[in-house]
Amino acid sequence: MLAEIITIGREILTGRTLDTNSNWLAKELTDLGIKVKRIVVVDDVVEEISKEILNAIKYGVRLIITTGGLGPTFDDKTMEGVSLATGRKLVLNRTALKMVEEKYKKLYEEGAVDTPELTEERKKMAYLPDGAQPIPNPVGAAPGMMITVSGCTIVSLPGVPKEMKEMFSSYVKPVIRQIVEREGKRRILLEKIIPSGSKDESLVAAVVKKVREKYPEVYIKSLPERFGKEVNIQVRFTAEGDSKEEVEALINAAIEEFKRLMKEDGDLTNGKEYTN
Ligand code: AMP
Ligand code: MG
Repeated sequence: MLAEIITIGREILTGRTLDTNSNWLAKELTDLGIKVKRIVVVDDVVEEISKEILNAIKYGVRLIITTGGLGPTFDDKTMEGVSLATGRKLVLNRTALKMVEEKYKKLYEEGAVDTPELTEERKKMAYLPDGAQPIPNPVGAAPGMMITVSGCTIVSLPGVPKEMKEMFSSYVKPVIRQIVEREGKRRILLEKIIPSGSKDESLVAAVVKKVREKYPEVYIKSLPERFGKEVNIQVRFTAEGDSKEEVEALINAAIEEFKRLMKEDGDLTNGKEYTN
């Protein structure tokens, strides 16, 4: 099952905020057996958000997660973007309105806001695309939403990392797990990191190239940090498949081939042996 993460917000594009949300979500989705195909950052512009959603659907993505742009301010455009892409009008969602209402009542009682009144800005957060299911926000004020259109599930979560993580873990993850199980397409992804025994990445690259030719299904990535006599470059082997045994066997075979070729061709002059 393919997924795309869309980070929404000008603050990311101007470098004012570091996009940690997509990194966190990518790890979560990968662990759920979902293949994240693209991570994109778009501006707070309705047409841009919509265009990216439509692109992803056209590509065959079955799950889109957006983060950011759900608040009460003028630049919070995510719901409008989803509405444009799906052709579902924005309507006042009663359940979402109740969530917002109760939240501000509580905030007022705590003295965090001066009025519990449902102002236009607060009410704005309860407008969701027609047919969407609101996702409660136990940390902040803006509810998220989930909607499935033409076989693609779109989930919108807030930008504040604490809110986004809590809502994903409590409400989105269980639903995604169900979808993956129902489809019976959980992919197993495994990785192993080994020391190459070499300090020279260009030399490791030549060996990696040969191993890739023999094992094209294994993604092999050297992990350089710096140059130095004592450096021992690490190499990560990643593969995916339907069973753990099958993937493990594939990775191990590629590692064996890598070690063999490194012994044959490699620069082992720094005397470091493989620890794996
Ligand atoms: P927003 O929901 O877009 O109004 O975002 C609210 C706040 O959450 C922003 O001001 C940022 O501080 C933070 N934020 C938004 N998007 C991200 C992101 N992708 N990664 C980390 N923090 C974010
Ligand atoms: Mg924003």
